[in-house]
Amino acid sequence: MVDFKAIRAQFPILDQEIHGHPLVYLDSAATSQKPNAVIDAEANFYRTINAGVHRGAHELAARSTMAFEEARAKVAKLVGANAAEGEEEVVVTGGATAGLNLLATAFGNASLGRGGEAAKRFALKPGDEIVVSRAEHHSVLLPFQELSYRTGATFKWIDLTEDGRVRTDNLDEVITERTKVVAVTHVGNATGAITNIAPIIKRAHEVGSIFILDACQSVPHLKVDFHALDVDFAAWSAHKMYGPTGVGFLYGKRDLLEALPPANFGGSMIEVVRMESSTYMSGPARFEAGTQPVAQVVAAGVAAEWMMNIGLENIEAHEKTIAAELLKLGDVDGIRILGPRENVDRIGTVAFDVAGVHPHDVGQFIDAQGIAIRVGHHCAQPVHRHFGLYASNRASSGVYNSVEDAQALVEAAKGIRKFFGVE
Ligand code: PLP
Repeated sequence: MVDFKAIRAQFPILDQEIHGHPLVYLDSAATSQKPNAVIDAEANFYRTINAGVHRGAHELAARSTMAFEEARAKVAKLVGANAAEGEEEVVVTGGATAGLNLLATAFGNASLGRGGEAAKRFALKPGDEIVVSRAEHHSVLLPFQELSYRTGATFKWIDLTEDGRVRTDNLDEVITERTKVVAVTHVGNATGAITNIAPIIKRAHEVGSIFILDACQSVPHLKVDFHALDVDFAAWSAHKMYGPTGVGFLYGKRDLLEALPPANFGGSMIEVVRMESSTYMSGPARFEAGTQPVAQVVAAGVAAEWMMNIGLENIEAHEKTIAAELLKLGDVDGIRILGPRENVDRIGTVAFDVAGVHPHDVGQFIDAQGIAIRVGHHCAQPVHRHFGLYASNRASSGVYNSVEDAQALVEAAKGIRKFFGVE
């Protein structure tokens, strides 16, 4: 049995009052809080071994390189990726947005003929298709929408069911022989719905398309194995999985990473540089131009290890109890949940609309009671349009939340419409 009260006590930020109330943090989909182990790892790196990685002959450089690569291996283990030397499948990025833009830029470079014969599988031209879903965060939608403008490829999307799940009943119509790239979210950041990705991946591969997974909202909450899922690429951020900001990861099947042309150019990613032309390294290094956020990567490795020590199944089961409580928001008069109402194939991220009350007013009213939720469009405007709205309120759980936290929100929510006089 995991003692989740003891786990909560590892998060110093949660031990404070906001507006005279104990802080209830229900905004983990935006960013998670950090346990002492992660905070200490970053500080200790700077205190003891700070140095540039992959260069320099001195001992500190060797130690920081080892810490950096060990962290990569821990993160790889968390998502079922290869980490053995020469077979690494996890690239360090500045975050999920950076990783997704890296892919779109690299595909664009391949479309211009860069990367030679091997990169042709990523090249797009007019008549080809890029497919996303309406559930996407803007960080998926926009890099690939832009890629369609740059290459002339057609931009298409899979629509949603009434309760906001990515549809899988018409995949043969949307993903066709002309589809070259499919990019879909694993878990909707607004709806909390877990996408039934198996048939989408199967269909993408059937037509010879690359499949990219946005794993931002799955890796922190569910046991994820990219090999078992058979995704080609996946992007996620460290700061949503109890790690630091400013760093994220991009998974790629090793043969695809070998074939993909780089997107960013500069130091640490080259073999030979001449004035006439240059050659680039293979594997993750090819995509890691410039000085890396070493302290943050090391701390992200500690976050991955910390999660694995608790057990992803335990995290998932614990957050399911919180999701059950949050879903009771749907029983409050005038409140509508945007996303699946039942506690099945979803996580503890629950977006809701309060009839007649603007989300910013809702957010302020809830904040006055020490409860932090997110208001706005959550970088998912097309999802809100699907529900006939521009913005909403969103509560989202983390491993440190208790059922009491969710109950506090539901109790507070009961008073919103009365307070604003719209009952
Ligand atoms: N994808 C999803 C589903 C997200 O929830 C987020 C962050 O909110 C992103 C992508 C972008 O992540 P980041 O802002 O860390 O780059």
